[in-house]
Amino acid sequence: MKIDIKNAIENQCNGLLRTKSFINGVWVSSENESTFEVTNPFDNSVIANVANLGGSETKKAIDSANEAFKTWSKTTAEERSRLLKKLYQLQLDHIEELAQLLTLEQGKPLVESRGEIKYGASFIEWFAEEAKRTYGDTIPSHGHDKRIITLKQAVGVVAAITPWNFPNAMITRKIAPALAAGCTVVIKPAHQTPLSALALAALVEKAGFPKGVFNVITSDTAKEIGDELTANPIVRKLSFTGSTKVGKTLMRQCSDTVKKVSMELGGNAPFIVFEDANIDNAVRGAIASKYRNAGQTCVCTNRIFVHDNVYQTFVDKFTVAVNKLKMGSGLDEETAIGPLINSDAVTFIDGLVKNAVGEGAKLITGGEKIADKENFYPPTILTNVTNSMEICRNEIFGSIAPIIRFKDEAEVVKMANDTPYGLASYFYSNDYAKIWRVSEGLEYGMVGINTGMISTTVAPFGGIKESGNGREGSKYGMDEYLEIKYVCIGGVL
Ligand code: ADP
Repeated sequence: MKIDIKNAIENQCNGLLRTKSFINGVWVSSENESTFEVTNPFDNSVIANVANLGGSETKKAIDSANEAFKTWSKTTAEERSRLLKKLYQLQLDHIEELAQLLTLEQGKPLVESRGEIKYGASFIEWFAEEAKRTYGDTIPSHGHDKRIITLKQAVGVVAAITPWNFPNAMITRKIAPALAAGCTVVIKPAHQTPLSALALAALVEKAGFPKGVFNVITSDTAKEIGDELTANPIVRKLSFTGSTKVGKTLMRQCSDTVKKVSMELGGNAPFIVFEDANIDNAVRGAIASKYRNAGQTCVCTNRIFVHDNVYQTFVDKFTVAVNKLKMGSGLDEETAIGPLINSDAVTFIDGLVKNAVGEGAKLITGGEKIADKENFYPPTILTNVTNSMEICRNEIFGSIAPIIRFKDEAEVVKMANDTPYGLASYFYSNDYAKIWRVSEGLEYGMVGINTGMISTTVAPFGGIKESGNGREGSKYGMDEYLEIKYVCIGGVL
């Protein structure tokens, strides 16, 4: 059974299915030959057995990245840009294979996987361009005989730890700016989705990047790998995307060697529908931001606040739209909602629904596990929700939409901000003064107005409060991988 699936995938994926880690330009097994299983969330079938590395191999990868840094950081921006452009083109040339692999290991509908591969590629293209624009300054000097300039230099060896919800794009948006800046990288993808990371390594190899510049450690012992990546003084930067809990641990661990860190952590996005909103547009935006990837993105809507005067209209239209979402295999082109990543995720969100109902929420649709489909949970709507319910205090990361009624602008902004998180937020209104007031009042790193889709390469993605720090994408994304050096030249008489 295992072999059949593996062969089928290998044929489909055009040689991009790799099961060994990639260190110093070589495909390697773990020192003790151990492997771990990668399964398809649709039916829990085994897709591949992947090398299960530990701390000592991680140290080797860091050493090889350090060696490669000596020459990679000295290449011209033009040289790095050219290789990144090659990688960009290769990723686009292989959209279909990469998307299929992504759907197989992650579960999301193929249309979303194709979108992710294009989105992931866009970071490579963008930073191939930005590589050439890491300008420093000349600064008017404080002394007659002195001249001042600033240089921007690559931080050094970068560690990247990435999650399973975007197995390609969460990697490219870290490694593209890192490589563009002249850094070398060691990546640890989530154990649920290592195949997309390894496929990317195969493309990096094909593009002709020098050995040691790009390394991937696959493992299901995240802590062991994370301990080495954070304790090793050679690593000068950690870029992490994942839960706030693990992010806090990694920040603590990085403090011993005072590493630069970027943290993209959890969210609790409010989605506010004001009474002056276009309700049909708001429904479309809520569907897009709530149910993309079955609700498993850190910018997914977590709480929907609807003004009293339009509450029932919104709920009725939203329910009609939600009931049209087709659940199924991600490989089926009709599917809008795939499986959740595993049965623990199903148990977690089912618990949130049951508790909310216990606390007085009303179930409008969904809300029950599906008997013969362990990893699926139907798109669910809850009304009569209050902001203090457990479901509003947690990042749901699944297909449940809790709806809360509000009456006034100040009240809803206060409720929206009443969370330790501060990643994405959304609201719908056609009142320009309110649009300014609410945008400024929301304590979030990102605000979407009259849209449920805000992620793009060209804008700075990131959060405040316990949603993290640092920005990815845009002209700011490069700074995360650069140090500013100030040079003072004396004796100029
Ligand atoms: P999620 O709940 O989305 O899986 P996690 O924060 O647990 O989010 O995982 C995000 C990434 O962090 C994954 O690559 C995971 O393997 C890794 N990870 C989890 N725990 C640790 C840890 N203690 N040290 C280093 N990496 C970790």
